[in-house]
Amino acid sequence: MSAPIPLIAGNWKMNGAGPALAEASAIAAGAPAAGVRVALCPPATLVERMSRALAGSPVELGGQDCHAQPGGAFTGDISAEMLADAGASLVILGHSERRAGHDEGDADVAAKVSAALKAGLEPIVCVGETQAEREAGQALEVVTRQVRASLPAELAGRAFTLAYEPVWAIGTGLTPSLQDIVEVHQAIRATLRDMFGQAGAAPAILYGGSVKPGNAAEILALPEVGGALVGGASLKAAEFLAIVEGAPRA
Ligand code: PEP
Repeated sequence: MSAPIPLIAGNWKMNGAGPALAEASAIAAGAPAAGVRVALCPPATLVERMSRALAGSPVELGGQDCHAQPGGAFTGDISAEMLADAGASLVILGHSERRAGHDEGDADVAAKVSAALKAGLEPIVCVGETQAEREAGQALEVVTRQVRASLPAELAGRAFTLAYEPVWAIGTGLTPSLQDIVEVHQAIRATLRDMFGQAGAAPAILYGGSVKPGNAAEILALPEVGGALVGGASLKAAEFLAIVEGAPRA
């Protein structure tokens, strides 16, 4: 099975209103047409407007979370169907800011993954250890457990992406050593093969956590690193496109 096409996905988190669409348009204009996938995941209020800004470009569009139910009495929540209706084709699930700030466990993430698949969205499922867990030598155990419990069986044969994001590296300017990144990515790949057989070779495994133009190329060249999930550096087109530029082409 050939290596997955690298994906560089920008997570805008709770940043950006109408004027920020100019950055999305600049990213659309500068994104390569083939060899690497580029995606933007803006806040929910921008999804529909961004789908218009990205129309005709190769840049894909994603949400940052969805509810596990397709609809109902869930004030403030957004379903996978609603994201798809607004023009999204991807959704980030299980980001550590959702796990920590909204008390989401692996079972919640797995239910959301199922909901995303039903709506035709490709899930980007995030896993990663805390600083305390890394210092205790538990990083591989924690990440492997999260992968097993956050990915429902119906993912077999479906398009999905994993993102390894050490919690302590997100927004901090800190990154693991290159060797540590490879070790975790290889453990994730072994787990995917164990869970899904040959199909476990297909999903890209992204690295996320303080990826910047200055460190992207060396991280993206590592074995089993199939792209990046980028927070802060995805808000400005020039920075984000410089990261895209450093990605190996399929
Ligand atoms: C993220 O939000 O997923 C992330 C990796 O953020 P940052 O790039 O800012 O560390």
